[in-house]
Amino acid sequence: MAERLVLSGAVLPDGTAADIVIADGRIAQLAAPGTAAGPAEDCTGMAALPGLADAHIHLDKTLWGLPFEAHARGGTVAERIAFERSRRPSLPPVFGRGLALARHVAALGTTQVRSHVDIDTQSGLSGLFDLLRLREAVRDLVDIQIVAFPQSGILRDPGTAELLDAALREGADLVGGLDPSAIDGDAAGHLDIVFGLAERHGKGIDIHLHEPGAAGLGALADIARRTGAAAMQGRVAVSHAFALGHPAAGPAVDALARAGVAIVTNGPPRAVAMPPVAALQAAGVLVAAGSDNIRDLWSPHGNGDMLQRAGMIAYMQGLCAPEELELALALATSHGAALCGSDGGRIAPGGAADMVLVAAGSAAEALVSAPPRRMVIKRGRIIARDGKLES
Ligand SMILES: [Zn+2]
Repeated sequence: MAERLVLSGAVLPDGTAADIVIADGRIAQLAAPGTAAGPAEDCTGMAALPGLADAHIHLDKTLWGLPFEAHARGGTVAERIAFERSRRPSLPPVFGRGLALARHVAALGTTQVRSHVDIDTQSGLSGLFDLLRLREAVRDLVDIQIVAFPQSGILRDPGTAELLDAALREGADLVGGLDPSAIDGDAAGHLDIVFGLAERHGKGIDIHLHEPGAAGLGALADIARRTGAAAMQGRVAVSHAFALGHPAAGPAVDALARAGVAIVTNGPPRAVAMPPVAALQAAGVLVAAGSDNIRDLWSPHGNGDMLQRAGMIAYMQGLCAPEELELALALATSHGAALCGSDGGRIAPGGAADMVLVAAGSAAEALVSAPPRRMVIKRGRIIARDGKLES
């Protein structure tokens, strides 16, 4: 199947215009505007960006597609876990809700997501099985990595470790974790299980860490140490990591950089400290961006638009200079792709032809304005036009 497509006269992230030649699902060539032969789409006036990557989403939790409901929020993480468990049995199946959201984000140009899925003694592996089926259903639109996420803790919900083990056997790509001190009350015990499962199954790790201050910094240092000891550089991520906003975070940042541990941030919808993106980048830590909760029992916010999310993070952190805007865009493109092990994330010959073309004169303008999506390309095929999927 030698499918060829020319995106004629698109503006590349470096500001130059080019004909982007796609063949067999990959970017074959960048040619001078108007010079490439073959079936062409006129992309004059459009900025071509790498496909967007949402490095932290919960496809199983979303209420996307259902009537909006008022948000009932508990105070602590433990209270919110209890509230979700009380509502979960009455929600429609994960497959339909997740499918609605996956199709929505694909139409917005997201070509890769890392989705956590709740694994606990209430839902067992049912969410995982729905997400595995969903991954297959949308395989031509968006790639889905799945993290087996112990939303109710591990030690405080006996049986969860065994369920995580089964989830990794059944097809989850990574094992998750959650606030080792605050939720399980035994940071070492929690991390022993998470790292043990990852090593046994040869899978990566992505841990939710909301814990602020000293507890959070201690957990980050321990995660970095364990990552080095297990030779898991490049395969461990910490999501949220609010503790990195602490003034004494320097040693933890250095430890993460040395260990090759990545950070995923969503620009938290609360007045909490955030990982300082530019400082982490300067220290050599890979930082990617994700939506986290999208209209679910944890948050009424979120629309799945990763351009808007990256622009919001840039705004919140005062990233304004051209190279800073470039970094902010990378959080939702090349860095997310690198985190997920995708060969997309760049517009260069040889890369996967995952792209979104937007109504903007440059990548920087696209970041600050989150403009209309003109076209989304997944593995060389046009899958959406003007915000609507082709099928
Ligand atoms: Zn999350």
